Amino acid sequence: MAVLVLGGAGYIGSHAVDRLIAKGYDVAVVDNLVTGHQAAINPQARFYEGDVRDVDFMNGVFDQEDVEGVVHFAAFSVVPESMKNPLKYFDNNTTGMVKLLEVMAKHDVKRIVFSSTAATYGEPERVPIKETDPQVPTNPYGESKLAMEKIMHWSDVAYGIKFVALRYFNVAGAKPDGSIGEDHHPETHLVPIILQVAAGERDQLQIFGDDYPTPDGTNVRDYVHVVDLADAHILALEYLKQGHDSDAFNLGSSTGFSNRQMLEAARTVTGKPIPAVMAPRRAGDPSTLIAASDKARKVLGWQPQYDDVHEIIKTAWNWKTSHPRGYDDRGGNA
Ligand code: NAD
Ligand code: UDP
Repeated sequence: MAVLVLGGAGYIGSHAVDRLIAKGYDVAVVDNLVTGHQAAINPQARFYEGDVRDVDFMNGVFDQEDVEGVVHFAAFSVVPESMKNPLKYFDNNTTGMVKLLEVMAKHDVKRIVFSSTAATYGEPERVPIKETDPQVPTNPYGESKLAMEKIMHWSDVAYGIKFVALRYFNVAGAKPDGSIGEDHHPETHLVPIILQVAAGERDQLQIFGDDYPTPDGTNVRDYVHVVDLADAHILALEYLKQGHDSDAFNLGSSTGFSNRQMLEAARTVTGKPIPAVMAPRRAGDPSTLIAASDKARKVLGWQPQYDDVHEIIKTAWNWKTSHPRGYDDRGGNA
């Protein structure tokens, strides 16, 4: 039986596909390549190019594959873009989930592991954030993902489709051998942007806001390594296969790093000066996001291997220096 990975050509999805294959799973990928790269998909996975919202296409995939579970990464995830164009997010992310669950119900596939996000919590009342804390998103991206969680809940009630929602905090890093990594156009996330400055592709880093109620005034985030994150999906899938009920888990390190601290860590790792300037706040940014992630450790048995942002940045820098133009300069199946 196959694990069907939606968005498996993307940053996190490609690492999950790679880890699933390393652990002996049979893997099929659906991706429309809107932000992903075919070259990122482990060649041992079967690849279907198409859109999750295309019900005929998806029915065809489920007809061809004997799907034991779906792992769902296929979504848009850029907070500022969602502030400017919310309907794009509700269409791709939320409508995509409705269509997917229709197809899963039709094909009697009863397990889904879902990429949710800390953005579903919004500005937290307290940190670290627990899974049971209020979910009040401050941007349409987070709202679109919260709606997806709720749609899965009601589809569980009605059709018995069990889900695990994994609420990621900030994901960074790359496979340690540097063969796959983060390649977005444009990059919007902090770590790859800092490394673009380190590599001389940008003149300077803009730090969005230094007047937040945090120790150094810049936003505080909780970073998790992409390979640790990928492994959590496999544990979640196994959890569902053991017959457990639907649930949600935070995935983070439970440690916060400010934007200034991340910059300093990247300067240390790369040995580059990395010029930076202060800039106005970015719309939709919560001040501090730190996960309580003991539930994933306790219930799923998740044991993250990377607990130091320097190590996380080091693997991202390894990918960056070995692939200066991302996947564009790769041979193979690019
Ligand atoms: P990504 O853009 O690299 O990957 C998404 C993949 O999905 C891409 O390959 C894209 O082509 C594909 N896709 C998008 N819409 C599709 C559709 N309608 N049909 C088929 N394929 C489609 O993003 P990522 O950084 O790997 O993030 C993956 C998931 O993780 C997202 O759902 C995001 O919300 C979630 N997430 C990411 C972070 C982070 O820090 N990167 C944090 C929290 C949550
Ligand atoms: N950030 C920044 N400059 C940049 C990109 C990001 O100061 O060029 C900040 C952003 O405002 C936030 C943190 O870095 O405080 C992490 O942002 P990212 O987009 O990586 O992830 P998010 O927390 O939005 O999921």
